[in-house]
Amino acid sequence: MKLRRLTRKRATDEVYEALRDAILTRGFKPGERLQVEEIANKLGVSLTPVRHSVQRLCTEGLIEIRPRSGTFVATLTVEDIQSTFEVRCALECLAAELAISRLTRAVEKEFDELLELLRRPVDNEEALRKHEEANSDLHQTLLQASGNKRLEEVYAGLNAHLTIARIHASESRKAETAFQSKEWLARFQQEQAEHEEIVAALKAKDLQRARESLRKHIYRAKDAMIASFAAVSAPASGRAGKKSDGAAPSARKRSHN
Ligand SMILES: [Zn+2]
Repeated sequence: MKLRRLTRKRATDEVYEALRDAILTRGFKPGERLQVEEIANKLGVSLTPVRHSVQRLCTEGLIEIRPRSGTFVATLTVEDIQSTFEVRCALECLAAELAISRLTRAVEKEFDELLELLRRPVDNEEALRKHEEANSDLHQTLLQASGNKRLEEVYAGLNAHLTIARIHASESRKAETAFQSKEWLARFQQEQAEHEEIVAALKAKDLQRARESLRKHIYRAKDAMIASFAAVSAPASGRAGKKSDGAAPSARKRSHN
């Protein structure tokens, strides 16, 4: 079979998508060693686009490069999720502490606009994607409002590690029915109330209240993710081990609070 010649940029994008898809659909198992040469051979491309794609997936937290050991599909245990959320909570509380004294009208307005977006009903994949984006932006706005670039960087790295957990967690979701379920609606309303409380506390410059509301919000998200993760994990090892049910890729971020 003949393959059409690809430009270098195009080849990297396609290799990246092929590898990412393979990880998301468990064509590669968590913890599996990846051989760059073998992948390049199978895809019929040179090593360069494979290396670039591996780097990109590493940044996203889907692949781990272990020095002197090799390249592996990232694995995640319940303990990993637990500790990542604990650190995330600490970082967001620190961001709140730093942001509270320097909160401008412009940032407050940004928070209000995001809350407005988050109030919109979520009843399809596209609405969910927009909702998750606004959700992520709300937390990002808090981090930026801290005025601490180093803190923002650490936070960004931490979030990448949760990507794979979201993928596993999303496997337990049935895309067509979940939006109508009581659980989904209840969670949506609870999440909304939590976001409103966080913003209200920041505006009131009440650090104690901001910390408590962030903690409640982030720990609930942690519990929800662990519950979804456990539902698709192999009981013996505690690592994800069930085949994908083919849920839409856009559902993968649902467990981000
Ligand atoms: Zn949130």
